[in-house]
Amino acid sequence: MTNNEPRITFHGAAGTVTGSCMELEHDGRAILIDCGLFQGPRTLETLNREPFSFDARKIAAVVLTHAHIDHSGLLPKLVAEGFRGPVYATPQTRDLLYHMLPDAGRIQESEAERRNRRKDRKDEEPIEPIYTEADSKAAYDQIETVALNKWFQPARGFTARLWNAGHILGSTSVEMQVGETRLLFSGDLGPDHKAFHADPEGPAGLDHVICESTYGDRAREDLTIEQRRTLLEAEIKAALTRGGNLVIPVFALERTQELLLDIAMLINTGRLAHPRVFIDSPLATRATEVFAKHAGELEDMGSGEIFHHPSFHYVLNATESMRLNSLSGAIIMAASGMCEAGRIRHHLRHNLGRRESTILFVGFQAAGSLGRTILDGANRVRIWGQDVAVRAQIRRIDTYSAHADQQDLQRWIKARQPIDGSLFLSHGESGSIERFRRLLQSDGAAASIIAPKLGETYALPARAPARRLKTGDPELQGAVERDWQNDYADFSIRLKKELQGIESASARREALARMSEVLRSYQDHRDKRKAKNG
Ligand SMILES: [Zn+2]
Repeated sequence: MTNNEPRITFHGAAGTVTGSCMELEHDGRAILIDCGLFQGPRTLETLNREPFSFDARKIAAVVLTHAHIDHSGLLPKLVAEGFRGPVYATPQTRDLLYHMLPDAGRIQESEAERRNRRKDRKDEEPIEPIYTEADSKAAYDQIETVALNKWFQPARGFTARLWNAGHILGSTSVEMQVGETRLLFSGDLGPDHKAFHADPEGPAGLDHVICESTYGDRAREDLTIEQRRTLLEAEIKAALTRGGNLVIPVFALERTQELLLDIAMLINTGRLAHPRVFIDSPLATRATEVFAKHAGELEDMGSGEIFHHPSFHYVLNATESMRLNSLSGAIIMAASGMCEAGRIRHHLRHNLGRRESTILFVGFQAAGSLGRTILDGANRVRIWGQDVAVRAQIRRIDTYSAHADQQDLQRWIKARQPIDGSLFLSHGESGSIERFRRLLQSDGAAASIIAPKLGETYALPARAPARRLKTGDPELQGAVERDWQNDYADFSIRLKKELQGIESASARREALARMSEVLRSYQDHRDKRKAKNG
């Protein structure tokens, strides 16, 4: 029986939070659970250019947990490399991908174009986009929709059923029966008390569970939708009282719609007068249309108009976007959420220098991003090669989240018991996974708790712990886990702050001279070591 056991290989989201892709093999057939893009620092993104470590033409099907690009964004590459099978997803996920996949394709094309244009690359071979808008459209055409809670057969020998994961519109966990083995893939899990969606659900009594652990080591303040809305109300009132604009960097999918829900409810219940709200992101506008289409399936919608509220203006084109420059006293929501690209940069350039304006952050800001730099208190930032002084009010609400926190995850895992085999912890930074693993172990959550690494393969027997069959590439794992550019970004922000804190110019020069001394002595140390090692 042993060689009839299903096997799993982790191709992404191991010791990191992006690039979700798991390969499940059984009886000579293979399917994928998700096929996501690596996102974040440059070294991580180069992984998207690596060839797949499987033959795309031999994958029988893909089951997609949800529409986020770090779970779906390499589908177009898979199709470009010869995958012709079905991609199973919920109708909501498919509707979102109709907009998101082509958008991702356009981003890949313009990113390649931008890099090829750079002067310092003149003598190098031009790079090709990882995939194109046309590849994205072809991938979209391979999607087949499946309903929640109904068994279906993604490929011969594999039976699957989708459960609500409460993370974003259309998000699911995937239960899978393969041979004798019962598996559950959490996908990304939402928090309890999330707007629009019911709390995550799932079956109990499994052989193996693969669980995300993004916030496995973090407990969040547990706010109800109403408490969060009250925080937002206070921020909006304070910002509009100052007379300037309130600029909110947003993620196009889910966060935009949550904010629109909260703002509409505040207006509909008379707690806010009628502010002018501009949604300046083509993708956010299209995602909002998908929410409007599925409004009947959403929770917490109250009564009264939400997405087509008369106070909301969806900005149609760049000319209209430019016209917002002359505004004052408006709420402007624009992408990207971490201010790394998109129309938000344009609004930051026009509002950061105005004392009466407010920038409100409502989402996660990764180290090294423009959003994080502003939030960390920079006095000046560079946007499109221009120095911009920061005089606006910088505010933050950090209680909006689409992810389960530590307690939510513990509750979800508990509700899946008994787990007779192994509990795999994926989709988290390696440090937080390790802390979460120790916590779960002391809880007795499962007999065997595994933090899989990139490229590792495990046998998945019924009623027994998983066995590792193949180790991954440690060099690759290192690249994924900690990028030196992140360390550098943290360091340079600290350095600038430290220097600004020194009282006089001459003392600052002395500090710099001493630091140069350290760099020289480090070079000496390396030269000596090199000489010694021959
Ligand atoms: Zn997600």
